[in-house]
Amino acid sequence: MTRGRRRQVDTSTHFCPNPDCAYRGWVGWGNLRANGHPSGGPWRQLLCIACRGYFLETLGTIFHSKRTSVELIVRVIACLAEGLGIRGTARMFEVDPNTVLQWLVKAAEQLRAFSRHVLHDVRVRQVQLDEVFALLSAVKDGEVSAAEAIERLERSPRWVWGAMDPESKLLLAIDVGSRTRAMAQRFVHHVAQVLAPDCVPLFLTDGFREYLTALLTHYGHWVQPPRRQDKGPFPKPRWMPLPQLLYAQVVKTVRRRRLVRVRHRVVFGTLEAVEQVLAACGWQINTAFVERLNLSLRQHVAAVGRRVNTLCKGEDGVRQ
Ligand SMILES: [Zn+2]
Repeated sequence: MTRGRRRQVDTSTHFCPNPDCAYRGWVGWGNLRANGHPSGGPWRQLLCIACRGYFLETLGTIFHSKRTSVELIVRVIACLAEGLGIRGTARMFEVDPNTVLQWLVKAAEQLRAFSRHVLHDVRVRQVQLDEVFALLSAVKDGEVSAAEAIERLERSPRWVWGAMDPESKLLLAIDVGSRTRAMAQRFVHHVAQVLAPDCVPLFLTDGFREYLTALLTHYGHWVQPPRRQDKGPFPKPRWMPLPQLLYAQVVKTVRRRRLVRVRHRVVFGTLEAVEQVLAACGWQINTAFVERLNLSLRQHVAAVGRRVNTLCKGEDGVRQ
C-alpha cells in the first residue's frame, strides 16, 4: 500500500484464510492490514483488503479461540516436553488431563507443519539413523490381561525411528512404526525429502539389514553394463548405488545384556572414502550421536521411557 500512514505491523508472514479470496494461501502480497486488538484481547485482528474479511492473527494455531492464557498453554507444553506425563502435568497445573491431551495434539499438529515448512533442502555430510523400542500400553481398563498385552506387543512392536546430522545435532526426521522393510523405506524416504535433491551424505546405521534396500532404492541409478562381445544385444540395465553413496554399519553383538563386540562394515563406497568424511570431524565410524538422541528421547518423552506407567495406547500417541 502506498496510500496513508506507513504500516507499522508486519503482516508478511500471514495469509488470508478465506477460501473464496484470490489471495488465499499467499504470503507477502501486502493485502493484510493490522486492525488492532478486538475487545482488548492479546491478539491482533487482521483485515484482508482484497476480500474485506477479518480474522485473528492466531488462526490455525494452538492459541486460536482459547480463553486460557498463553502462558499456561506454553508452560503445559514445556512441561510435557521435559518428560512429565499427561496426568502429571494436569495435576501440576490443575487442569483436566483431557485438556492437556488436546493441547498436546494441537501443538503436535502445528509443530509437524512447522517442521515441514522449515526443514527442506538441508545439506549435511553425515546422517545417523537408529530405532528405539517404544512399548505401547495394550492394557485397556482390564480389557486385556497383562500377559495377553505382552504377547500382542511382541507380535507388533512399535519403534521410534530417528535420523540426525551428528555434526549440527539437527534432528532430520522422526517417525513411529514397526521394524520392517516397508517402514525402513518410508523412513529413508522421509530423510531423502528433507535433504537437498543433490545431497548424498554418508549414512551410518546399526546392523538392521532393511536399511540397505531402502538406501539403495533412494540413492541408486540405472547403469548400462557393457556388452560382453562386439556384437549382439546390450545386457539389461542394472539398478546400482550412486557412486557418491557412502554407507557404513556399526554391528554390535550383545550377549546377556553385555556388549561383547563392535564391528564396522562398509556397505556402499570404500572404507577410505568413509573415513575421509569422518576425519573432517576427527571421528571414526560410530552411531553414538543418534544413540545419545535416543536417550534424550527416553528422558523427555514420558511415553517412551523405560519402566514408566505413562505409556501410550496407540501409535499416534507416541508420534504426537
Ligand atoms: Zn482475502
